[in-house]
Amino acid sequence: VKKELIKAEKFNVVSELAASVAHEIRNPMTTVRGFMQLLQRETLTDQQKSFIDISIQELDHAQDVINQYLSLAKPQTEEYEVFSLSETMNESVDVMTTYAVMNSIKINKNIEEDLMIRGMKLEVKQVLLNLLKNAIEAVKENGKITAAASRHHDGRMRIIVQDNGTGMPPEQLKVLGRPYYSTKEKGTGLGLTVSYQIVKRMKGEIKVESEPGVGTTFSVFFPGST
Ligand code: ADP
Ligand code: MG
Repeated sequence: VKKELIKAEKFNVVSELAASVAHEIRNPMTTVRGFMQLLQRETLTDQQKSFIDISIQELDHAQDVINQYLSLAKPQTEEYEVFSLSETMNESVDVMTTYAVMNSIKINKNIEEDLMIRGMKLEVKQVLLNLLKNAIEAVKENGKITAAASRHHDGRMRIIVQDNGTGMPPEQLKVLGRPYYSTKEKGTGLGLTVSYQIVKRMKGEIKVESEPGVGTTFSVFFPGST
């Protein structure tokens, strides 16, 4: 028992350190990004403009990695609350709509109202954003994405993110969720790792169906709030 306690305390120190390092790095990065954006307004050559674009993209990538790490390192003692999965799903789709529209992608919503679950709203939002972002990145131009939420027949709350994108072969499905597994040039390979961890902690379940060239369906099941 004592050994376990020491381990838990160590884990907390590590996660607190990770959180403060991430925080202290985030602030200067935000400043640098702001100045980069100001520079973009100056009269520059095309090459100078492209250097600034790349710098901003790289900063955003680093930010992405820090955010995902931060949620992996988070201590598991936070308070759970009862909140509406329906609202969280609607908000998450709204957040991703700009990103989708930029790529001429349509997100269809089919979200039942008043689906209540117990957990941390920000974490659930992170899961939904990760799934929606992956769907958008899988379909590229003119793709179709469906975001649905409903009460499953077994009483659990279920969300679905379905795309008609690249799809994945069985070998790839087997390694989903492994840290750093990514097929993208600018991927972190942490989005699904974080998502699986959050859902597992909530005693939920993630199911994936996929077919190369046809598309992918992610289903997430959450225990109801009672
Ligand atoms: P990242 O998006 O940074 O690559 P993720 O953990 O979010 O990391 O996803 C890991 C990998 O799983 C992706 O690189 C991609 O190969 C695959 N993947 C995830 N979602 C989908 C999807 N909807 N369609 C096709 N492939 C997907
Ligand atoms: Mg991702």
